[in-house]
Amino acid sequence: WLAHYPPEVPHTLSYPKIPVQEYLTQAYEQFPEKIAIHFMGKDISYKELHESSLKFANYLQNLGIEKGDRVAIMLPNCPQAVISFYGILYAGGVVVMTNPLYTEREIAYQMKDSGARAIIALDLLFPRVSSVVHDTSLENLIITGIKDYLPFPKNIIYPFIQKRQHGVTVKVEHRGINHLFTEIMKGASSEVKKTAFDFEEDLALLQYTGGTTGLPKGVMLTHKNLISNATMCDTWLYKCKRGEETIMGIIPLFHVYGLTTVLILSVMQGNRMVLLPKFDPETALKTISKQKPTLFPGAPTLYIGLMNHPDISKYDLSSIEACLSGSAPLPAEVQEKFEAITGGKLVEGYGLTETSPVTHSNLLWGERAKGSIGFPYPDTDCRILRPGTTDSVRNGEIGEIAIQGPQVMKGYWNRPEETAATIVNGWLLTGDLGYMEDDGHFYIVDRKKDMIIAGGFNIYPREIEEVLYEHEAIQECVVAGIPDPYRGETVKAFIVQKEGYNLTEKELDSYCREHLAAFKVPRIYEFRTELPKTAVGKILRRKLVDEEIAKQSEA
Ligand code: AMP
Repeated sequence: WLAHYPPEVPHTLSYPKIPVQEYLTQAYEQFPEKIAIHFMGKDISYKELHESSLKFANYLQNLGIEKGDRVAIMLPNCPQAVISFYGILYAGGVVVMTNPLYTEREIAYQMKDSGARAIIALDLLFPRVSSVVHDTSLENLIITGIKDYLPFPKNIIYPFIQKRQHGVTVKVEHRGINHLFTEIMKGASSEVKKTAFDFEEDLALLQYTGGTTGLPKGVMLTHKNLISNATMCDTWLYKCKRGEETIMGIIPLFHVYGLTTVLILSVMQGNRMVLLPKFDPETALKTISKQKPTLFPGAPTLYIGLMNHPDISKYDLSSIEACLSGSAPLPAEVQEKFEAITGGKLVEGYGLTETSPVTHSNLLWGERAKGSIGFPYPDTDCRILRPGTTDSVRNGEIGEIAIQGPQVMKGYWNRPEETAATIVNGWLLTGDLGYMEDDGHFYIVDRKKDMIIAGGFNIYPREIEEVLYEHEAIQECVVAGIPDPYRGETVKAFIVQKEGYNLTEKELDSYCREHLAAFKVPRIYEFRTELPKTAVGKILRRKLVDEEIAKQSEA
């Protein structure tokens, strides 16, 4: 594919050997008065962000946080998430991003597994976090409220410290939030003890993911991993002007996709990030028309949600210049319609937590191929392997995508065996099936484990979903293989219709028969009002399959 590499971008780059937080120091030095964060009507300058992050680092060091200590963040998108992230890094710690939707069991698992010593959590989550704290290595809960950070920056972070009693029980000591906070911030200095730094080896982030199988594992991402992926994204955005762009931050910062493309990239470029704590189409549309973001990383379901808002034409979305869609396949329909509405470019990229996360993307402003994830990023090598072997397949043939590059994780935290099974001979096995065309473009077919085998045929859900998305009545859909006594598996489609439509199974069946070979046509359709999704908007196909299996075993 190198022979076809887009001339607009270099295929090899040099990376500054700096810690990630150095981007904030640099942005502060270069643009102290520029706005770093816009959040619900408030602006925070780089000077304020820098100072708050240093104060927070000082505060953490006074709590005893030392180099390499894990500190968890359990917040939706808000200024405190950014301050905590940079503060932890300035203190020499390792960030453990934690999904605020986690249940007690999941929190306990992640805290125990990572060995986190402190957590910064949203006040609403306090009951959930404090109820499991005795079962973990957490020594400090730092609680911050989404309504209480205003006015910024005085009321940002206020701890109610939980004392461990005999290492087990927890005494909740809630001493008046603002009072306690003010005391801490008054005393907080921005002096931070410097810690030794190793670019290649030091972890910046432990990011939990299910990976291809099993329980969530902590993906160890080093400063080098994150710096190189941010630099690659920056190169791909070659038309952007430092300090002048606005990045829309709707995708969660607690997922590595939002973390790299919003939280790090925006600061690296000295840009302004506009954060929204949750995705609600109307608020998002209003915010876009008012704040005029130029860059908008997202996931297909997010663009679909905006596009299908009945009042979309009332909003001015023309500021949007470039959107990178990742996490899940981008239906061509969505790409075309969203581009027509905004006048900007929406391109598909690909990656995974284990690669910090981006490995491939189409060019934002150049030639791109429909349905393709584009080219590997600079310094990123990609091979398509015959599953279970180390042999590459021929062009056009489907195999497992394997990646090499500076953004590939150091390994899974405390899991040498799983690391060895995932990084084989220096190649990260992604568990995704894809192929490369002669012209160097890469295509994802599906996850290895999502491929349906029905009556001996290999069926890729994505192909069927593409066809369904072209139907005017379909808002969202997902196709999955469910157990079938005769065919091994059979194809089932879960459908969400657009408002005002009332499709029948029969209509969909004849539509699919027109566009797909008979063996691929779904045998069962189920209409739903919504589909279960992850925080980044990926539809949880596995959850639907598990529900089916449970239903079948009950029957
Ligand atoms: P995560 O580790 O949560 O970021 O999930 C990574 C997985 O998301 C990949 O292994 C793919 O299965 C899927 N994924 C990411 N981008 C795409 C894409 N453009 N098309 C299809 N699947 C994707």
